Amino acid sequence: MKLQEYHAKTLLSEHGLPVPPYAVADTPAAAAAEAQRFLASGAGRVVIKAQVLVGGRGKAGGVKLAATPEEAAEAADHILGLDIKGSLVRRVLVAPAAEIAHEYYLSCVLDRAARRVLFIGSSEGGVEIEQVAADNPSAIHRVHAHPHLGLLDYQARELCFALGLGAHLREFVAIARGLYATMIANDADLVEINPLAVVREPLPDATARDTIQCLDTKITIDDSALDRHPRLEQMRDLDEEDRVDIAAREQGLSFIRLNGTIGCMVNGAGLAMTTMDLIKRAGGEPANFLDIGGGAKADRVAAAMRLILADDSVRAILVNIFGGIARGDEVARGLVEARSMQERHVPMVVRIVGTNADLAADILAEAGDPDLITAATLDEAVEQAVAMAAQATAAPA
Ligand code: GDP
Ligand code: MN
Repeated sequence: MKLQEYHAKTLLSEHGLPVPPYAVADTPAAAAAEAQRFLASGAGRVVIKAQVLVGGRGKAGGVKLAATPEEAAEAADHILGLDIKGSLVRRVLVAPAAEIAHEYYLSCVLDRAARRVLFIGSSEGGVEIEQVAADNPSAIHRVHAHPHLGLLDYQARELCFALGLGAHLREFVAIARGLYATMIANDADLVEINPLAVVREPLPDATARDTIQCLDTKITIDDSALDRHPRLEQMRDLDEEDRVDIAAREQGLSFIRLNGTIGCMVNGAGLAMTTMDLIKRAGGEPANFLDIGGGAKADRVAAAMRLILADDSVRAILVNIFGGIARGDEVARGLVEARSMQERHVPMVVRIVGTNADLAADILAEAGDPDLITAATLDEAVEQAVAMAAQATAAPA
């Protein structure tokens, strides 16, 4: 689950990271009032930022500076309602604008292959890290944290010097530690600060002081850990989630949409992966990953069918059930029921083996649906599904 910037910044602050103060507004008038407050307490300008779960807001016109409350209202008026890469802006963040001397990048991410947390730092921040990796890979520095002890002090210092931030050693080490603490405490799989900026702060005696500040952050939480973070679950932004994802979660179904034409309904994650592999091998493309779980009852099957059919590119459906705890007859009943309610007619091939497979075959045969065929083996089922999808794509109904 991705967090909105204003939520992510709360988590960073809780772990002692330097985040400029901020407020959230959902109207231009509210943005002006917040701007007024920051300007009155000494800020030269404020920054108004779109709160959406996509990056590159700056380039898309979603980040603006303002020197007066009126300008802030204008900027908010422009940004609110903007469509940024398909996300509608409903809120803006208002903060005192930092005077940026240089932008860096610092993140920690779960490196599954290495089974460790990976720190990535770049002396070129403010732009997407993928871009830096392509254009100037030598600007990027990586270090794996110790699996039990976290980022060790010497590692943090080395990273600091590699980035050219030696003048801010103590601050940097504290930030790197705070980043790691934020990640672990919240079961995040990514905590990214971009830009991590060296910011010039004017002092009362007309001199200035440079500090490091976290100006923008992106945090994603491991979905499987959300059960133990009810507070983070509250931060979920349903407005920005796919309708299908919300429905899948409500049903407790593990569903991931893909780009192909063959909808898959399978019980068990391993069997679902195998089914997808076989579809690809047979020349087809799966439209989704879907694990309906063990012990799937008829209503779950019907819900799963609705999720698959919500995708307009689905041309054929492959049902692959290995009946262990799940009973074949329950699944078959669910399929027939779902079939009778579905608005869009899509051909379907069903392979059910194991518990009550014979009852399942009877139920499916009794339904008398010419577009619902059964297959005895998985290979046969896959072959038929691929053929059905190819036929339906060549001659759309
Ligand atoms: P993103 O484009 O979605 O990553 O949004 P960011 O918050 O990172 O903002 C994009 C860019 O706007 C940053 O890289 C900065 O150059 C600029 N920016 C953001 N906040 C400030 C600020 O407080 N002061 C100044 N001068 N520029 C800012
Ligand atoms: Mn950014």
